[in-house]
Amino acid sequence: MDLHLKNKVFIVTGGAKGIGEGIVLELVKEGAIPVILGRSKEAGIDIEKKIKEGGGKCLNIMAELPNPEICKEAVQKTVDTFGALHGIVNNAGVNDGVGLDSGSPEAFKKSVITNLLHYYDLAHYALPHLKKTKGSIVNISSKTAITGQGGTSGYAASKGAQLALTREWAVELAQYGIRVNAVVPAEVMTPQYERWINSFDDSERSLAQITDRIPLEKRMTTSEEIAAATVFLLSSRSSHTTGQWLFVDGGYVHFDRAYNR
Ligand code: NAP
Repeated sequence: MDLHLKNKVFIVTGGAKGIGEGIVLELVKEGAIPVILGRSKEAGIDIEKKIKEGGGKCLNIMAELPNPEICKEAVQKTVDTFGALHGIVNNAGVNDGVGLDSGSPEAFKKSVITNLLHYYDLAHYALPHLKKTKGSIVNISSKTAITGQGGTSGYAASKGAQLALTREWAVELAQYGIRVNAVVPAEVMTPQYERWINSFDDSERSLAQITDRIPLEKRMTTSEEIAAATVFLLSSRSSHTTGQWLFVDGGYVHFDRAYNR
């Protein structure tokens, strides 16, 4: 299927590693131009080099989010460099384990600020340009917004708010032909996930227990599978899909608990 993404320009936050990296590389495969906005210096330089050596185009902007001014500047730099902006992927986030019991009001506030505010900032500054291109927004949320996890209030609240904003923005922006959707991963092996699983005493056993609970093929979702769904939602091939939460999770969230094959 031709996704008609050749030379289209997309900003991906946290695009140097994990799920974001998967999305960036999938965009490049489709001939699109990703702009990586995130704080991972070495990984950002590496991915930029890899894309350019392969004949692709991209831009790498180093930034700690949230920072409204940086989002504004990144959008402007993108448009100055490539002439247009066709979409954004809000993806950068950290499951920082700020619990109700274990956390504090200050830590909760910090977690929500870190995980949520830049989703709004980037969409806000991208909007005038997305109106011109009838662009698309994809918010990467998390199953924790739906299932809870325990011990991670700030992250869960942010992920839930991202789903609410997806529908809210889809309604507000329908008049401009701008579509807004969310992709909801559950268990994806990324640098962040690897750090988390390695924090367990017996990480191999913990991982086996987790994958055993994933109905489809008893395995983790790959970053490439999240990326394929995201890039489809960015493309005009999903031209009548908006306000949706797409669960790319091997059935983790919705399957009947009786399913155990
Ligand atoms: P990852 O491996 O940590 O990659 C995320 C990238 O974003 C990293 O380069 C990270 O930099 C960067 N980043 C994070 N917060 C940032 C900030 N405030 N400012 C600038 N850059 C920032 O994470 P991932 O697992 O791919 O997760 C990506 C998204 O998927 C997140 O929104 C997460 O909530 C969601 N998600 C993931 C899973 C999963 O199983 N992996 C499940 C559900 C949802 P550093 O490396 O320096 O931190």
